[in-house]
Amino acid sequence: MLSVTEALEEVSRHAFRLPTKECPAIEAMGMALAEDLISPVESPAFDKAMMDGFAVIAADTDCGNVNLEIVEEITAGNTANEVLESGQAARIMTGAPLPPGADSVIMVEDTQIDSENVDRVQILQRVKHGSHVLKQGGLLTKGQVVIPAGSVIRPVEVGILADLAGAKALVHRRPTVAIISTGDELVGPSIEPGPGQIRNTNGPMLEAMAIECGAEVKQLGIVRDNRDELSEAIKEGLQADVLLISGGMSVGVKDFGPVLLEEQGVEKVFHKVHLKPGKPLWFGKQGGSDNPTLVFGLPGNPASSLVCFHLFVRTALNELMGRSHVSPFVSGFLLTRDFVNPGNRPVFFPAYASRKDGGGATIAPLNWKGSADLATLSQANALACFEANTQYEAGQFVSAVMV
Ligand code: AMP
Ligand code: MG
Repeated sequence: MLSVTEALEEVSRHAFRLPTKECPAIEAMGMALAEDLISPVESPAFDKAMMDGFAVIAADTDCGNVNLEIVEEITAGNTANEVLESGQAARIMTGAPLPPGADSVIMVEDTQIDSENVDRVQILQRVKHGSHVLKQGGLLTKGQVVIPAGSVIRPVEVGILADLAGAKALVHRRPTVAIISTGDELVGPSIEPGPGQIRNTNGPMLEAMAIECGAEVKQLGIVRDNRDELSEAIKEGLQADVLLISGGMSVGVKDFGPVLLEEQGVEKVFHKVHLKPGKPLWFGKQGGSDNPTLVFGLPGNPASSLVCFHLFVRTALNELMGRSHVSPFVSGFLLTRDFVNPGNRPVFFPAYASRKDGGGATIAPLNWKGSADLATLSQANALACFEANTQYEAGQFVSAVMV
């Protein structure tokens, strides 16, 4: 049986990059840039005033308190009419280009104008050369990599793309994810569960998680534990980039998933992973370079399904979308209480991570009742990772998967 690390490596190895497409930057939020964004220009394009005040020649103010002639006014979006000469100042607003000849800006607060003589300005202090000026090319040089490929597009990147790339981004297209919920016991939201029946929680939950990862979802609904019905659904699901099958993947008498998948040419990569909850996870791939589909058979228990999604499906979706260097694990959480994992599998335990005032990040394992317990998971923002057969003491550091 593979360890979590080995299984994650297999998922990454079999994942592929989806084709790229150009789209408006605002629609690319959460997606990854498919190529380096290289600055086509230097920025700023001109020496720029960073304060409202007066553009001056710093050397004019070397003797301290001086009086300069105001020759013009330059507001943002306009340029100077004249070259500034010694003894002169230009009134200048934030964002405006410095007049040629000037090298510095003094803030309006450090100047004084006599109401009798509004054409002159008293400079109240010595101006340091270059002060309150952002030099041409001081932020970006032409040809510089501004955002490396693989970076996730957040609002700041949307701003940069608007500045440098016509508000467009080249990204890997969104993956399509098909979802099948298997189980004779399952009913949809509009039906009152009869004896022995339960509601389908996994279908909608997996859809929500896939959407959160940036995927486009196709729900294939509830499918009975019946060979023909499941076979049909799998055939349809294999049209997507990723197929998620909830339930029916273990060794129960009606767990047809693994057999039917292999019948349809899905090559098994692994079945079962050394973790709790989530051990029955099945992973395979159909198709070569043409139109491949990654298939995850997720355990039916809702919490197991959720844990497997966060660890493995999310990793696959990140790879497909080209989001580089996104590990599911965050380390360095201080455990708030003792915890024992007596079992022989590593446990991913629902927990609440927080930051104490002035202290480091802490993590508190919740009172979780096992793999069917979603209610406690709703109070969790993390899964604390505990090694097999290990006793932990409060104050020890552990890593976690954020959920
Ligand atoms: P299975 O993996 O099919 O053996 O199912 C394991 C457990 O998860 C059983 O108790 C199922 O009733 C439950 N289960 C399976 N599918 C779902 C689902 N879609 N929503 C909620 N519970 C499920
Ligand atoms: Mg089942």
